[in-house]
Amino acid sequence: MPAKVDMDKIVSLCKRRGLIFPSSEIYGGLASCWDYGPMGVELKRNVRDAWWKSIVHERDDVVGLDTSIMMHPGIWAASGHIDSFTDPLVECKSCHLRWRANEIEGKRCPKCDGELTEPRMFNLMFKTSMGPVEEEASTIYLRPETAQGIFVNFDNVITTSRKKLPLGIAQIGKSFRNEITTGNFIFRTREFEHMELEYFVKPGTDEEWLDYWVKERFDWYVKLGIRKENLRLRQHGKDELAHYARDCYDIEYLFPMGWSELEGIANRGDFDLIQHAKCSGRELGYYDAEAGEKYVPYVIEPSAGVDRSVLAFLIDAYDEEEVEGEKRTVLHLHRSLAPIKVAVLPLSRNEKLTPLAKEVFNKLCPNFVTDYDDSQSIGRRYRRQDEIGTPFCVTIDFESLEDKQVTIRERDSLAQIRVPIEELGKSLEAKLKGEAFDASALWATRQK
Ligand code: ATP
Repeated sequence: MPAKVDMDKIVSLCKRRGLIFPSSEIYGGLASCWDYGPMGVELKRNVRDAWWKSIVHERDDVVGLDTSIMMHPGIWAASGHIDSFTDPLVECKSCHLRWRANEIEGKRCPKCDGELTEPRMFNLMFKTSMGPVEEEASTIYLRPETAQGIFVNFDNVITTSRKKLPLGIAQIGKSFRNEITTGNFIFRTREFEHMELEYFVKPGTDEEWLDYWVKERFDWYVKLGIRKENLRLRQHGKDELAHYARDCYDIEYLFPMGWSELEGIANRGDFDLIQHAKCSGRELGYYDAEAGEKYVPYVIEPSAGVDRSVLAFLIDAYDEEEVEGEKRTVLHLHRSLAPIKVAVLPLSRNEKLTPLAKEVFNKLCPNFVTDYDDSQSIGRRYRRQDEIGTPFCVTIDFESLEDKQVTIRERDSLAQIRVPIEELGKSLEAKLKGEAFDASALWATRQK
């Protein structure tokens, strides 16, 4: 079943509406790098916040952490990244394009049909050097995941947080991978943002916790508006498991190029803590005071990408429909993800309307991310807001001057209600926070 929107439409909407731009564009761009524009930065922040809220703030068994991108190189030797964080790569002898060997069917180059080299292993970590004189400086790596920063701080967190196991440590931050094949917009890039949770549990309870986290994470996407039928779970085969993993599930999303990984949830066992204890010489274990026993915890790791999630949310929210004989493009984004919550739109740029419209804007903007737009026709302004997924537009017209009421227009149903300016803030707050957002019901009315 193909997805209903192709990637070009998403890329062009993102450019047009200030969500995502090609990086370094005025210099001709830089492959696989993208910049988030004024609307994109809000959307991305909302995705991060939604993850942090559900993983850290709404639980008492997870704490947060923010570790440095550059770390001691010994960490990457211990974690296995120097030896094993590699992809088999083949190169075309004619056009010299490089491909991931596991993505190629047959023995010829997909671009020019040229002969391919034998696969060789290619390390995905970016190297750089630390220190002022390059020759004397030591080689260090940009982290390819945030997880290791968590493992090497396990003892710091356990001893300072006074929490018992099971305990999770969460981190959001940039990761870097010198990927062989990038593409599909922000799906696979060389610089991206990870949202990772390392959930430390007693050995023997790990399988249960893996099931728990697979379900939790699957439901998170559904709660935020992704249609269930566009998500599926896939367990890794034994031959596919990463060197550290005992078991692993991928949550896959039906992207325009087909089903692909959105998030991985792995049972890492005690691999990382044992390795770091061995290589650093520091003991990394847990003393369970109640049971009077000491053990090395197992770790369940839900690992997601901010950018890849942003892409899935955008694709799933995208719709084109006819309204009063005109085509409209709309993002049915979950309200908590929408970059702008409310747009204040005076019917026209008129000297009588402007002061009241500005007054309404000033009232709303401390509480909601609010946009003010008085250029062009009201219809075009509605369309612009629909395209970035603004859930509510507030229109100020000439009657508003008399009756001190304004119109709230809802993005999905297009319903319009008139409310006193006095009650506008409360009414919007109730709509944004209180009313359920049911993506399945919404899409059921729009099945084509
Ligand atoms: P893939 O095989 O798709 O490159 P992976 O299995 O190597 O991904 P993990 O190491 O499990 O990915 O990372 C967890 C999550 O981080 C992925 O599910 C994805 O959302 C995100 N991610 C990983 N690599 C990238 C990348 N190069 N660009 C964007 N997001 C990424």
